[in-house]
Amino acid sequence: MSKDYYEKLGVKKDASKEEIKKAYKNLAKKYHPDLNKDKPEAEKKFKEINEAYSALSDENKRANYDRFGETGEQFSGFNQQGFQNFDFGDIFDSFFGGGQRGPMKRRGRNLKTELELNFKDAIFGIEKEIKITKYDKCDKCKGEGGKGKISCPECAGTGRVKKSYRTPFGTFAQSSTCPRCHGAGEAVEHICDKCDGTGKESVTKKVKVKVPAGVDDGTTLRLSSEGEFGEAGYGDLFVELFVKPDDIFDRKGDDIYLELPVSFSQAALGDEVKVPTVRGKVKMKIPSGVQSGTMMRLKGEGVENLNGYGTGDQHVKIQIVTPKKLNKTQKELFKRLAKENKEELKIKKGLFERLKENF
Ligand SMILES: [Zn+2]
Ligand SMILES: [Zn+2]
Repeated sequence: MSKDYYEKLGVKKDASKEEIKKAYKNLAKKYHPDLNKDKPEAEKKFKEINEAYSALSDENKRANYDRFGETGEQFSGFNQQGFQNFDFGDIFDSFFGGGQRGPMKRRGRNLKTELELNFKDAIFGIEKEIKITKYDKCDKCKGEGGKGKISCPECAGTGRVKKSYRTPFGTFAQSSTCPRCHGAGEAVEHICDKCDGTGKESVTKKVKVKVPAGVDDGTTLRLSSEGEFGEAGYGDLFVELFVKPDDIFDRKGDDIYLELPVSFSQAALGDEVKVPTVRGKVKMKIPSGVQSGTMMRLKGEGVENLNGYGTGDQHVKIQIVTPKKLNKTQKELFKRLAKENKEELKIKKGLFERLKENF
């Protein structure tokens, strides 16, 4: 087994302290027996890089190593010594969670729920009340988990606990954030019996949802701080909206679509009609000679945009309705009309023939 510590860490002989530390961290992360799948091999490597780092991270030891090499007398008994004095907590903190030593306070969870709206409520906005079940602040201990502060017995007030485990190469000590006080070093003396010290309790709560005008099917509203309780504040509540379809109106974005039934005579002669819109009836002119399928536009009769970008239009599709039942007078009139049409068709026959040939 080669004992070139520089080689073991993959650094140059004149590497700075920082470079050595960085190289070590990368390797320790890679070969830590708990993180690496190939355990026996990883343990061996892990031991080697730790030995190399212990020698090179200490200025005196490094100078000795540079002068005498690993056979130097100064190194006798170093293996055990090196491991025991080593602060793994420092290294592992920087791996998992950025090395913060303060209490780890968590924000409450975000919640998600659904709300069904009527077609017009989505267009004009509405205030709704919904019920949600969530973890809220315990009302007995006000989220404190109990009464009276004492030094945390689990970690003796240090906020960190040391766990040691044995390997064939010696005992490793690893320090981590105290699970009881989450690093605060303080604990409650009398644990709240309502929430068992968690500071939270499950409640069913009514929440008012202000639905703004212009929302659509699939819009998600975010209700800030209406989620679950946590030591570092409440999470948010996300409300996904579902909009029921309407019997006569269709909606695409901010535009409304409507099919308008129009009689033969209205289509032929033209008319002024009252057309339903989401805001009520409005007057619309049907031009004479309008064809079935023609789209007419009622400007500004659509949906007011949710983000203030103007208002959509209503599009009216003309649907000419063929009468199914005719009374005597109507029959009479259609017959007369048919006669007239024949005369007219004769004139246009040439055109029809040409059309037929093309289809
Ligand atoms: Zn409580
Ligand atoms: Zn503690």
